[in-house]
This record gives sequence, structure tokens and C-alpha cells, in this order.
Amino acid sequence: MRKFDGDTLLVATHNAGKLEEIGALLAPFGVSVVGAAEKGLPEPDETETTFAGNARIKAHAAAKATGLPALSDDSGIEINALGGAPGVYTADWAETGQGRDFVMAMTRAHNELLNIGASKPWIARFCCTLVLAWPDGHDEVFPGAIEGQISWPMRGEQGHGYDPIFVPDGYDITFGEMDRWEKNKISHRADAFNKLVKGCFALNT
Ligand code: IMP
Repeated sequence: MRKFDGDTLLVATHNAGKLEEIGALLAPFGVSVVGAAEKGLPEPDETETTFAGNARIKAHAAAKATGLPALSDDSGIEINALGGAPGVYTADWAETGQGRDFVMAMTRAHNELLNIGASKPWIARFCCTLVLAWPDGHDEVFPGAIEGQISWPMRGEQGHGYDPIFVPDGYDITFGEMDRWEKNKISHRADAFNKLVKGCFALNT
């Protein structure tokens, strides 16, 4: 596994919140982060059919364009009874042409489960794959996940996206009802980040 030994990491996201979160996480390792928007990078098309595939597209495009190691993520929710859908199309299900509507997306997921008469529990997982790519084409891939099930109706005002219909294993509240600190400890993103830090940033491994 290749270690990150520079001092600046390009984070292949145009989302300021994500950039700040990743910057805080990597600050203890003496790493400063710079975002894709600051470097004027375009958002490449996500044409692959896996989270890892799409994360690799974003990380390699950014590393190549800037000459810096680049980190990207791709995430979404997989619902077993729907054959893993929406999966890499999680954000697309919320697209309206005038912004994203996650109530519409969650309603679609629920309707599809009802339409096929899927029996409960409606097993699902949130996935997040992180890719760290270097300008020479090398990369390291870290998949993270949290298992759970879909519940209906939507519950909770916290979080974002599909949080109000996802109950993680071992809990009886949705991610939408869970406080952010608790969610950030157990989430798919935390799982992937722990693996990334252990693999590429931790000092004594
Ligand atoms: P991405 O930005 O292409 O990775 O799209 C991720 C999609 O999955 C977005 O629609 C998010 O709302 C959804 N998603 C990813 N992680 C979470 C989460 O922790 N809670 C709720 N929705 C999520």
C-alpha cells in the first residue's frame, strides 16, 4: 500500500462542506487540502457502474490535471430487493431538472418495493468508496459500508439525502433521527475514511 508523503492533497469535490470535513480529518497528519473548484477543475462525467469506478474517474482526472495526489469519493444506497438500485444512480433518482428532491427519490424507492411486493425486512446499505490517486496513475481504493434496512414512513429532520428512510443495524431510529456526531462515527463514510487513514496516512503502519 502506498503512503501519502506530500503536504498538499487535492480533494476532487466541488462541495465546500465535504472539503472542510476532509481537511479537518487530515489536518492531524500535517496535510492541507485544496478543492477542485479552487483549481478550476471541471466535474467529469461519472460513466462507470460501480462506486469505485466513478470515484476512480474523479480522482485520476484531478490528479492528472493538477499534478497533485487527489482524493475522491462516490456514495449511494443499495437496496437488495431492487437489485442494488439506486446504487450509483442514487443522486440521479433525486434529480428534477431544478435541483434535487430527495422526498421524491425516497418515495420512488418505497413505491418500487411495494410494486414488486418485496417482503420485509427491506435490507439496504449505504456505501462510500474513497479513491486516492497519484499523478503517475497509481491508486488505492477504500470501500466503506453500513448495513441496515429501509423503513417507511420517512422519519427525522437531521442529515440529508436518503437518511429519513434508513435504519442502521442495531438501532431503531433512522439516520434522519440520529445526531450527526453518532452518525459520523458509524457511517459508510467513516468506515471508508478509517481504512484510508490506516492505509495511507497513519504514521506507524
Ligand atoms: P455522490 O455525490 O455522487 O456520491 O452521490 C451520493 C448520493 O447518495 C447523494 O444523492 C446522497 O444524498 C446519497 N447519500 C450518500 N451518503 C448519504 C448519507 O450518508 N445519507 C443520505 N444520503 C446519502
